[in-house]
Amino acid sequence: MNGDSGVVTERRARAGRAIAGLFCAAILLKLGLEQTVLRNGRLELAKRIIPSPRAFDPGPGPICASGGEHLADSVVRYTVWVDPAAYSSDEDRERVASKLAPATGVTCGRVLAEVSRPNSRFRHIARRADRATAERVANLDLPGVHIKEEIGRTYPFARLAANALGCRGVENEGLEGVEALWAFALDGYAGSRPVDRDYSGRRILGIPERGAPPEPGDRLILTLRLPLQRVVEAAMDDLWTKNQPESATCTVLDPRTGDILALSVRPNFDPANLRQAMPEERKCRQSFDVYPPGSTLKTVIVAAALDAGVITESSRFYCPGTVEVGKKPLGCWGEWRTKGHGWLTPDDVIAKSCNVCAAEIAMRLGADRLYRFLDRMQLQETLCSGLDGERAGIVLPKSEQRIRGIANIGFGQGIDVTDLHMLAWYGALANEGRMYRPNIVREVRRADGRLVGRREPTLLGQLYKPKSARLALRFLEHAVENGTGATAKIEGVRVGGKTGTAQIYDPATGQHLDEYIMSFIAVAPIEAPRFVVFVRVVRPKVGEHGSDTAAPVAKRVLEAAINLSAAELAGEQPTVEVAGRTAPDAQDPS
Ligand SMILES: [Zn+2]
Repeated sequence: MNGDSGVVTERRARAGRAIAGLFCAAILLKLGLEQTVLRNGRLELAKRIIPSPRAFDPGPGPICASGGEHLADSVVRYTVWVDPAAYSSDEDRERVASKLAPATGVTCGRVLAEVSRPNSRFRHIARRADRATAERVANLDLPGVHIKEEIGRTYPFARLAANALGCRGVENEGLEGVEALWAFALDGYAGSRPVDRDYSGRRILGIPERGAPPEPGDRLILTLRLPLQRVVEAAMDDLWTKNQPESATCTVLDPRTGDILALSVRPNFDPANLRQAMPEERKCRQSFDVYPPGSTLKTVIVAAALDAGVITESSRFYCPGTVEVGKKPLGCWGEWRTKGHGWLTPDDVIAKSCNVCAAEIAMRLGADRLYRFLDRMQLQETLCSGLDGERAGIVLPKSEQRIRGIANIGFGQGIDVTDLHMLAWYGALANEGRMYRPNIVREVRRADGRLVGRREPTLLGQLYKPKSARLALRFLEHAVENGTGATAKIEGVRVGGKTGTAQIYDPATGQHLDEYIMSFIAVAPIEAPRFVVFVRVVRPKVGEHGSDTAAPVAKRVLEAAINLSAAELAGEQPTVEVAGRTAPDAQDPS
């Protein structure tokens, strides 16, 4: 090719581009950003859409809070890809890379590597980019660069409840959390469409158009109350900064139904920026973490002992500081190891959190009754809360258990639980002994609003007799009024609560480390409990006990929960929207 004809060709191409550009702008205005194909420098609107089956996917349905607010939603996204065969020289490739990189936010080196792939006709540059990126790329008018419309996921409240909601992968598949566990309902049916066009959009003759229509995914309505969830997130942000723990959880349960009203985890992550999220940051720790509860378990064991009739409200126990159990010393905590608590009634065992007396109560209960009770507590079962990654608690089989192990369970060591179990057991204390399934998913509805299924409150069983539950609740109130729970006191509200400080066991060395899990579990209002708040703080850098780390968070959350109006807490009935995706870009904050 000589110089002149090269100039003419270039000029024609430019004129062609200009005309095609105007034509395209008009179409863009009319149709929105349609699939565009840029080939040999000439922009032409694709012979309609490149028939990726996913282009027909209506996308997963939204995940909503109880008031209908969309916490996760489907939006139209744009995938930018290149056909490396469109470039014949290194200059071409470098030119494309230098323009495409800033437009897509991908590094120049990576774009260059993709456009330089031999024997490939399809390389992704950016997956599920936003509309602005797609428009920037389309305006560059580069040869061999293509844009494909796909369905992506957006989280309008970013990190809010992220560890429960979970995330989706590059193929928009549910990876973790509610997104994964409930994918069977959330994911739409993409519809079937035979491959009747080649990758460049040309019709393959002889294959008729046929297939089934797509169906949008179902809508999931959670039990979370958005106003309360916001309070919990703010309280956890402050805890994260102030106490600098390795991890922390905060959960609010309605003991009358088992509804999880709010839950938050630190560290957390931004589900829209998965690449920056470490696996540790994505765990839903309420269901996943299994750990020794420490002293928060004392109330549960004391209630069981009241129930079994092995102790009464006026029983007395003696703490000399340290006793010998199973030929090993068993000491009380802190200075009490040497001083001893002296004579205590069960309410003071809880209020002063005495290890020696709690161990004595567990031993009075005995292995047989204790293990029957652990069965009733469903310790070694998962509770089917609707959260992903749920685990069962752990305890040695009864046949392997020695007297020392029974004593340790009395103060929450030598037994591993999850937050969900603790919430269910305290929920039962707060609800006349009735234990409800902790639950995060309320309803599944079709896109047109039809009800598919509703998870009604599920009674798991009568964990304690009503009388024992009421008594234990009074002990909890006593602990806040006169004991270790004092930092959770709220003016004008009857609050009950128990601290916990569990030493972390290192299975590698068989030793307990000088590191702690600090927790606080609160119930209010005592006369008719509506809330159980559980806060757990793992290895805080700042803070000595559950009372100065977890209890202030529980107090702040309880205060907010009590002050929220009934309507805000009821979670208004979700408003039903019209079938199909709901104004995707309007919902998309990016
Ligand atoms: Zn003691």
